[in-house]
Amino acid sequence: MAKPDHSKLEPRARKVKILATVGPASRDPEMLRRLFRAGVDAFRVNMSHGAHEDHAAAIACIREMEKEFARPIAILADLQGPKLRVGAFRGGKAVLRHSSHFTFDANPEPGDESRVCLPHPELFGILDKGQRLLVDDGKIRLRVIRAGPDEILCSVEVGGVISDRKGVNVPDAEIPIPALTDKDRRDLAFAIAHGADWIGLSFVQRPEDLAEARRLMGGHGALCAKIEKPGAVNRLPEILELADGVMVARGDLGVELNPEEVPPLQKRIVNAARMLGKPVIVATQMLESMISAPTPTRAEVSDVANAVYDGADAVMLSAETAAGEWPEEAVTIMDRIARQVERDEGYRARVRLLDTPPDPTTADALSHACMTIADTVPISAITVFTGSGSTARRVARERPGVPMLVLTPSVRTARRVALLWGAHAVTTRDIGSFEEMIAKGKRMALRHGFGQAGSKLIALAGVPFGTPGSTNLLHVVTLSGDELEKHGG
Ligand code: PEP
Repeated sequence: MAKPDHSKLEPRARKVKILATVGPASRDPEMLRRLFRAGVDAFRVNMSHGAHEDHAAAIACIREMEKEFARPIAILADLQGPKLRVGAFRGGKAVLRHSSHFTFDANPEPGDESRVCLPHPELFGILDKGQRLLVDDGKIRLRVIRAGPDEILCSVEVGGVISDRKGVNVPDAEIPIPALTDKDRRDLAFAIAHGADWIGLSFVQRPEDLAEARRLMGGHGALCAKIEKPGAVNRLPEILELADGVMVARGDLGVELNPEEVPPLQKRIVNAARMLGKPVIVATQMLESMISAPTPTRAEVSDVANAVYDGADAVMLSAETAAGEWPEEAVTIMDRIARQVERDEGYRARVRLLDTPPDPTTADALSHACMTIADTVPISAITVFTGSGSTARRVARERPGVPMLVLTPSVRTARRVALLWGAHAVTTRDIGSFEEMIAKGKRMALRHGFGQAGSKLIALAGVPFGTPGSTNLLHVVTLSGDELEKHGG
């Protein structure tokens, strides 16, 4: 096992986190390391692509990197969900002509320009005249003329080439299909067995979808609901209440809705998650042109910057790092954009445009106090002692102006908060007394680059130590020059 070398990597000079998708372009161990060094805080393992053995190798490498860099890293296993797809075509494809008729049916024979198999019985009998079917990310658009129990006759509004197994979106109907397919169940079992920290649940339509995933997770990992269906948007408050975090999955959301509906929704979802103190990820096409170019478009740079100004917890790279030609450059530019935004003198005010009043709890009152103290006197970091990570989430919810050093005996918590705004986690042994807490807070702050001699630090904890929900102690301490030597470095 490689020896930890704390000098190798400074704490990230930004609060927003970077989540990068692993794929053929990045699963090589050397590339994973380069992406981490360039700024990745969490990796997404996309179960829609690749074999379990590829994912297992990537996960093992990421866990190895944690030891090498002495930094917890979050792994988000993203389940494919009930992605609807057409069957196969004779010759692999067919051309659908504008204004022609086209039928989806249950016949497994290869399709042609007049029909294809739709191997999802749940769709027959639930669609109504006038509803839309969108194929291949919305490139081909059809409208239902007549929907029977075993065939759906449509008119082609926008034609094009349709090929084997292309995806189908049905934005106007709630589909009576569970959020977890048999493949998802296998993938979920794999993800849990391999210690994934977050599980991404795709195509959530209703709150009940989360309950089944939660049951199968059996207390392992945190649940991230991907918001990509209009049904999920309509029931956002209930879904957010049940999830541990959310992803604004703009890819499918922009197919199911008009693209111009996505930006206001993105802001609504980010704000709703922030109000609850749950991490929110903005995903998809953030630096899309970097799949094949070493520099992004100006519009993409603005898109990333705006997500950072909105106070998202994390911004995500998809194909840019999974399959692109410039994965390291994509992470580097995302890191640079985030740092530039966070250095902007207007950033703090902008991020706090969302008013997040504290709940009437001691934990929230103290979290709010951390923010106001750090705004009032020069503070180098807020040191949060937490078991479950709950106190760290409440502090992050305040979007304080200084970094948060999360000290926790739980490696699971440390990894999970790698997706949390402003959190830098370190695993430490449990503490038993107030004196020990102060000494450890100071030592860790010095060791991990969160202050120097003379810096002030906030320590936030709960007494009795180790009791969930007991946050009741806030202390401001000053780091002294000989602290590091005194406590053994
Ligand atoms: C999305 O649709 O934006 C998304 C993140 O989902 P996936 O990449 O899994 O299709």
